[in-house]
Amino acid sequence: MWQRPDSYGRFEHYRHPNGEGPHIYLKREDLNHAGAHKINNAIGQVLLAKHLGKKRIIAETGAGQHGVATATVCARFGLQCLIYMGAQDMERQALNVFRMRLLDAEVRAVHSGTTTLKDATSEAIRDWVANVETTHYILGSVAGPYPYPMMVREFHKIIGRETRKEAMEKWGGKPDVLVACVGGGSNAMGLFDDFIKDKDVRLIGVEAAGLGLDSDDDGQIIEPHSISAGLDYPGVGPEHSFLKEKGRAEYYGVTDEEALEAFKRLSRLEGIIPALETSHALAYLEELSPTFANETKVVVNCSGRGDKDVQTAIKYLKV
Ligand SMILES: *Cc1c(COP(=O)(O)O)cnc(C)c1O
Repeated sequence: MWQRPDSYGRFEHYRHPNGEGPHIYLKREDLNHAGAHKINNAIGQVLLAKHLGKKRIIAETGAGQHGVATATVCARFGLQCLIYMGAQDMERQALNVFRMRLLDAEVRAVHSGTTTLKDATSEAIRDWVANVETTHYILGSVAGPYPYPMMVREFHKIIGRETRKEAMEKWGGKPDVLVACVGGGSNAMGLFDDFIKDKDVRLIGVEAAGLGLDSDDDGQIIEPHSISAGLDYPGVGPEHSFLKEKGRAEYYGVTDEEALEAFKRLSRLEGIIPALETSHALAYLEELSPTFANETKVVVNCSGRGDKDVQTAIKYLKV
């Protein structure tokens, strides 16, 4: 809906000079207003809030990107906006705090618990249940209580629909493989949804493995670590768990270091600076591409642009 018709970029780095190897296409969600897929959901939900006659919008945010998307649509539609954000995250994401305030949202610091996204989410839910008559809670991913996982997927499934349409136009068929990064799982569900019934299309989700995969011996939820704030969340949406359990989708992990390499690689090959979240999906192509037959059509969801991550990347990358 927000895509320009010519925005379906393509890069051929992984093709052998003699023309062999997979064809890799980017679904350019980074070209959306505010620079990521998140606006698809925010705009759908703000229209719903208007329809329901709600005047007040609340949301939680970790890195600030969902907060910025929510503040953006509230400014556009003239609704009061309150964003809950962990005190620690507010310090780490000062630029996004400024953006939200510039858009006239109130950003309220959450000092309880971990002082990060987990507790900001709890605060938002507390507010919502107390003020549900006047307030709509714009949840940011395919997670949380019903109907959010389904509703957020519905607002993002335009990603997969456009992918199908543009694939038909470009090569007259479906893609063979879809790849997306997974934080809560919304951009991946948006890409996958239209293809779940097409058993010949491989669905691949890439999660953040941070410094490497480890876990808590007691089975408790531990604070995750990832260089990309948008993947720094300790859970994924229920439909991803379902797809994994059914064997319909596959999920893999990529470390900070691998993601940073991909961040640099796409910037240099294509002149596209991807979000660090997106860079996880791109990084996994290094593993995948050598396993593909010639001419395999791969679509990677370019979930967001990387301008917001340059400040982080400076600390780790020599360019
Ligand atoms: C928020 C974000 C993500 C992760 O969220 P999902 O719900 O898993 O899509 C991925 N990429 C970008 C650019 C983001 O802003």
